[in-house]
Amino acid sequence: MSIQTINPFNNKVVKSFEEMTPAAVNAAIAQAENTFETCWTRPYSRKAELLHRVAQIMRERSAQLSALITLEMGKLYAQSQGEIALSADIIDYYATNGERFLADEKLNPEFGEAYIKKSPIGVLLGVEPWNFPFYQVARFAAPNIMIGNVVLVKHASNVPQCAQAIEDIFLEAGAPKGLYTNLFISGGNVAAYVADERIKGVSLTGSELAGASLAAAAGKALKKSVLELGGSDAFIVLEDADIDQAVAWAVIGRMNNTGQCCVAAKRFIVVEKVADEFLTKFTAKLTGLKVGDPMDADTQLGPLSSEGAAVQLADQVQRSVDAGARVILGGKRIDRPGAFIEATILTDIEPGMAAYHEELFGPVASFYRVKGEAEAIKLANDSPFGLGGSVFTSDKKRGENVAVLINTGMVFINHPTWTQPDLPFGGTKRSGYGRELSALGVEEFVNKKLIRFSEYADPF
Ligand code: NAP
Repeated sequence: MSIQTINPFNNKVVKSFEEMTPAAVNAAIAQAENTFETCWTRPYSRKAELLHRVAQIMRERSAQLSALITLEMGKLYAQSQGEIALSADIIDYYATNGERFLADEKLNPEFGEAYIKKSPIGVLLGVEPWNFPFYQVARFAAPNIMIGNVVLVKHASNVPQCAQAIEDIFLEAGAPKGLYTNLFISGGNVAAYVADERIKGVSLTGSELAGASLAAAAGKALKKSVLELGGSDAFIVLEDADIDQAVAWAVIGRMNNTGQCCVAAKRFIVVEKVADEFLTKFTAKLTGLKVGDPMDADTQLGPLSSEGAAVQLADQVQRSVDAGARVILGGKRIDRPGAFIEATILTDIEPGMAAYHEELFGPVASFYRVKGEAEAIKLANDSPFGLGGSVFTSDKKRGENVAVLINTGMVFINHPTWTQPDLPFGGTKRSGYGRELSALGVEEFVNKKLIRFSEYADPF
């Protein structure tokens, strides 16, 4: 049974769910298509009302939903509460601004009149990851429901109770059946449904492997896809940066969600002049974090999302060390039950090592010392990923110049890569394509239809 709640704090199975049969999935798609046909022309005000109600229920139930996140994937409880608040904000954001984003766009052709009308395209399939079980879904579902699309959501198999809770909230808020549907299917079985003609587009947030598989199926069926994949964000510290501030942000950027963020700061690239000071202070801050139950308010380092995730990360560290990387801090599993791994800093990382090329999804920081700004940019860009990145400097213009030269979808100056409803989110290279959040988040699955008025003219 692959769809299960397993508490990563002690690796105990809490609850198991049956995978849906193909017949049940077929019925869910039929229901979704029927709902789309009957609902898409409803006014935006009605869709906005529903979304506001969904956001309100999430906020009212924050304690319960946050506990569910922590139970299923081990996030520190206070951060789970932050996730619920952010998810509700995103849903409200699209409810409030969606109609404006989707307004008709008047064109000015050489003669006659024309405009662009934005219409929904139909049933969408979203495949979502466990690392932010509510936030990731909010990013996909809210803009698309505002447009008038309907969504089928295949959530990660280790967060089934979160997955079910989201569908339940939509129904409780008054959504017609089929507007938002949770599908209990495992990752390996998803691609088979993509060819179904009733599904008009697919979106996946997750690993490169899963993204490539889904995008291949979508390409074969001539369907639009959006991919939000992994990242290995550079965190560049220049010699004129405020080092204490940079260190404080480095800790948050690496350790938020126990390091399991696509846009976590993963590669710390520090110029020679301030490298020792940064590394000493960074190491001190990551030393002796209080390990424990993610439900306890004083826990600073919780478990990873699953035993498998901890095994994989420990293996990446070991392979890097075997190839010559040096452990400055941590480097091992923590000797206690659960999916725990020490806060870790690696240095002396060279091309060819796992830590150089792979995404380290957990509390493991890669530290690089460089001569100056040019070398920092070169190293930042020498990555298969292109999601986010950040540069720390006291000179705003200099930060901007560096940002322009970094080949990623997002660069933050004096802050680790972050997210908020009104800023676009997405990457380049192997981090995927397409954008979520902000006004751009409603642009992916719409038909931008040209409507043209011409004076009646004799064709001859
Ligand atoms: P994952 O294994 O790819 O899982 C993500 C989702 O894809 C799950 O629902 C999973 O289902 C499904 N899946 C797995 N194999 C599939 C396949 N062959 N075809 C279709 N779907 C498949 O990723 P993860 O390790 O859980 O998540 C972490 C990754 O997500 C990291 O790389 C992280 O950087 C990335 N991420 C990116 C963003 C972004 O916005 N760019 C945001 C968050 C996370 P099962 O659970 O049933 O396997």
